[in-house]
Amino acid sequence: MLRLSKISSALFLALLALSACTPQAKEDGPINVIFLIGDGMGLPQVSSAFYFGDDAPNFLQFEKIGLMKTNSSSHKVTDSAAAATAMATGVRSYNRAISVSPDSLSVPSILELLRDQAGYQTGLVSLTTITHATPACFYAHVEDRDQHEDIAAQLATARVDFFAGGGLKYFTQRKDQRNLYQELLGSNYHLDSLQLSAYDPAKKNGYFLASESLPSKVEGRGNFLPDATQLGLDYLSESGKPFFLMVEGSYIDWAGHAENDTMLIQEMADFNETLGVVLAYLEKHPNTLLVVTADHETGGVSLDKQYEAYKVFGQQKVIPSEVAIRFNSNQHSAELVPVFAKGPGEDYFQGIYQNNEIYFRMLQALNIQSFSNIRP
Ligand SMILES: [Zn+2]
Repeated sequence: MLRLSKISSALFLALLALSACTPQAKEDGPINVIFLIGDGMGLPQVSSAFYFGDDAPNFLQFEKIGLMKTNSSSHKVTDSAAAATAMATGVRSYNRAISVSPDSLSVPSILELLRDQAGYQTGLVSLTTITHATPACFYAHVEDRDQHEDIAAQLATARVDFFAGGGLKYFTQRKDQRNLYQELLGSNYHLDSLQLSAYDPAKKNGYFLASESLPSKVEGRGNFLPDATQLGLDYLSESGKPFFLMVEGSYIDWAGHAENDTMLIQEMADFNETLGVVLAYLEKHPNTLLVVTADHETGGVSLDKQYEAYKVFGQQKVIPSEVAIRFNSNQHSAELVPVFAKGPGEDYFQGIYQNNEIYFRMLQALNIQSFSNIRP
């Protein structure tokens, strides 16, 4: 008996020690999740926000930071589809996959799990078409990212409560002649293809503000990203049910592909402003977990010295002055990308890990044990 009680007290102490080092998930009430993805936003892109524009970017508000490896099951350098599949489903797959496994089987996304098994409301905001790789991986399952019309058909039945982005043509000008815009209206959606009009609290809400992608910031996009994020947060907060909202800053990647430093600076400023909207929401709603990361870095960007010609003591000299953004390529790179977390369960996102871990760490933070069991 004595021996047994010794063992059980040792076990108790061991458990106590274990629970002391396990990050604490919030247990009283469900937790909202806001997932901000800067497409192509590696550490150099985040660093650029500290040198161009705002002196104190909103990234300064994070204390819990991790690093993430982004390679896909097929390539050392991932694309947005494989990276979003890994983060949305926990399964690493091949480049171009939209939430299917390497053998092309559908894998449920965190949005679908939270919607179906935990009663969450869901939202998606993107600057590209809403059928583009990053948002698509949260509600669709197809073998190739270019199957835009198939992806649109899956959005029509995905019951996403709030979405805003581009891509109207994949809903209205289709090879199969279906009009998915009309079908969505018939499924209790308030839709708008002209502006971010007031949402209808009694319906689901969808905004298609471009036939294809929205313009970039330098092309005059305006405040769509922070405004759509605010609108989504207002709507999703109204019912009192918990929500999962993914917001993508899509053009940080496109700035890298275009090797355009002005575009990069403006897209990072827009992302930083959107981050400010979300951080203000967290202040008022502490039961909200915010995770900010990227699918990969784009452009092999470095922040380099800018040389300028000066006259020093009557002599012409070329000396370093300002910081310059340089692009090493117009492609994605294999760099680790940063992860920033704030809110209940934020500790889970520290360390260095593979991108599919984001899925499991989010579920751990939400304290939803049944989902965590499916870790491969
Ligand atoms: Zn890209």
